[in-house]
Amino acid sequence: MGLRPQIQPIQFKGFGYVVWRDDLYELIPGEKAFGGNKARKLYHYVMNDFPDITTLVSYGSPQSNMLFSLSRLAQIKGWEFEFFVDHVPQNLFEKPRGNYALALQNGAKIKKVNANRIQSWVEEYAASKPHTLYIPEGGRHAGSEPGIAMLARDLEHWVEIAGLANPQLMLASGTGTMAYYLQKHMSFDVMTCPCVGSADYLRDQFFELGPSEKAHPLVLETTRKYHFGKLYPEFLQLWQELKKATEIEFDLLYDPLGWLCMMDFAKTNPDVDLIYLHQGGQLGNQTMLERYQRRAEYFQ
Ligand SMILES: *Cc1c(COP(=O)(O)O)cnc(C)c1O
Repeated sequence: MGLRPQIQPIQFKGFGYVVWRDDLYELIPGEKAFGGNKARKLYHYVMNDFPDITTLVSYGSPQSNMLFSLSRLAQIKGWEFEFFVDHVPQNLFEKPRGNYALALQNGAKIKKVNANRIQSWVEEYAASKPHTLYIPEGGRHAGSEPGIAMLARDLEHWVEIAGLANPQLMLASGTGTMAYYLQKHMSFDVMTCPCVGSADYLRDQFFELGPSEKAHPLVLETTRKYHFGKLYPEFLQLWQELKKATEIEFDLLYDPLGWLCMMDFAKTNPDVDLIYLHQGGQLGNQTMLERYQRRAEYFQ
């Protein structure tokens, strides 16, 4: 069985896993703005022509990977890009860095709106503006489906060739879009964990994408509640241990929780062939590491 470079079997804390290195997937060779998760979601938009479109509209967090990816998409296509946020942290506004700074460099117009429900506000705004392409937060939208379906086919094909008896795929979720469409297009089970919001929030997101509960991914949880973007010593430690043991750099925002949940699952399900989907995101690790370093006094 020939392994492709993006498929990496590893041992970690006494258990075996396969890491599917989708962080190495490049939609456009050498293009750093779309790797892994965001590259799959933007496949449809990069590969097709939209002759009527002049403006791209979206919303979300001013620090998100999607902001940077969309800014690059708009730049490549020659579109205006308006990105709505409900809040920009003062220090980010004064000293832009990370995804926010990169998006500004690509010409993104990042606009603050005072709306109780930013989603419906932006939907209405986009609908009223001619020649506008609207992509909801995190690409939670059918436009993300074709690229994710391709990944699902690749995964299924490999699992068949590798002859895995009891495969299950694990990945960490934000909006749940990647997990939802993978499950829709795969015959074996997809599991995920909610990094943003609760398990119920994540299930609601699945229902926004499609109705059938039967086809929804299984949601794993930890007993302790973790808040998105907050610093946790156990997250940093696990991330460092993984890096040391596997020489793989995972993402610091989503992957530590994904690994915690999967390791718990592995203990009670020794017969499952666990595949972990590495969705990229390493670009954001620098700012996360700086934040951890500034808070080092808490971790003595
Ligand atoms: C965007 C992103 C996620 C979240 O993906 P969803 O499809 O919104 O659940 C997870 N990991 C990485 C690295 C991401 O960039």
